Amino acid sequence: MTAPLIPAYGTASLADLSSSLLTVLGMGGENPLGLEPAGRVLMFIVDGLGAELLRAHPETAPFLSARPAGVLTAGFPATTATSLGTLGTGLPPGEHGMLGYQLAVPGAGYLLNCLRWTAAGPPVSSDEWQPTPTVFERAAAAGVPVSYVGPSEFGPTAFNRAVYRGVTFVGADTLDDRVEGVRRALAEPRSHVTVYYGDLDSAGHRFGWGSPQWLKRLAVADRLAERLAGTLPPGSAMYVTADHGMVNITERVDVDTVAALRSGVALLGGETRARHVYAVPGAAEAVLATWRDLLAGKAWVVSRQEAVESGWFGPRVRSGWLPRIGDVLAVPYTDCAVVASVDEPTEASFTGAHGSLTAAEQHVPLLEVSTR
Ligand SMILES: [Zn+2]
Repeated sequence: MTAPLIPAYGTASLADLSSSLLTVLGMGGENPLGLEPAGRVLMFIVDGLGAELLRAHPETAPFLSARPAGVLTAGFPATTATSLGTLGTGLPPGEHGMLGYQLAVPGAGYLLNCLRWTAAGPPVSSDEWQPTPTVFERAAAAGVPVSYVGPSEFGPTAFNRAVYRGVTFVGADTLDDRVEGVRRALAEPRSHVTVYYGDLDSAGHRFGWGSPQWLKRLAVADRLAERLAGTLPPGSAMYVTADHGMVNITERVDVDTVAALRSGVALLGGETRARHVYAVPGAAEAVLATWRDLLAGKAWVVSRQEAVESGWFGPRVRSGWLPRIGDVLAVPYTDCAVVASVDEPTEASFTGAHGSLTAAEQHVPLLEVSTR
């Protein structure tokens, strides 16, 4: 069993990219990545573009592969809701509280899907769930115009309010619209612009990374990066990164067919590669022992306290966020998925998945294109 890859919070994580970008714009603060000043920054997030995945296919991504790439760690879990919270606040998950894909709402007895913002109970306020001011709010307060260019259906949703609070949304449904929206946003003498491409991740989930369908999307992302680079006026810097990588699943453990994995479990959260397991009162130790036994040789299975003390979520976790974390965390290190075929039939059939503390999921590229 290899050791979990603990994210490099404070030195080379997605949180450090966000805080460094504020320094690039002259706002002071920490600059752990040592980025140079620029009047305009463009952050291009390619959902699911792990550093190892990109490195495996240079022929399909000639523009991105021709540039020297740094490597950042995504943070735990390696999932979109968490990583966009990290990029949005410049803080590790333990601070911003977006600690997974599906989390128990403490004391309520139901889960919140933190990406779709759906819950099997009364709605949850995004301002209360993620109350920390975002980097976008801080930049806007400092007089820097801040925009997000993406599909208009995204708009001001509750999830976007949690992670992108403070941006001006620019709806752009086609790739041409996205390039044009970025070009216009960068026309300001100072600006902070974010643009997002999500189709690579969806193709990876459905067909696996490296599949023909995935490669087609990788080529689109590469061409989009090249076109976005072409919009940069003098004095700008574009950073290309991702929210997480991915692994292709070769084995499934199904909690809906292995009855012992449901025993003593009140709620099953997280996702197939990063499970938050919430025990019924008094059952946490028994659940930990059972899960550890049944997933031996496949997954790191630890208690909430062990995960927190090992720094999985960052150097510290706000005490108010602790009950959002499962009593037990089950995080595969082989290409195994812990699925729930009855409750989550779609996810259970995914070919590609992410969330864990392996290099394939944690390592994301950081590329810079600058016109300074
Ligand atoms: Zn995904």
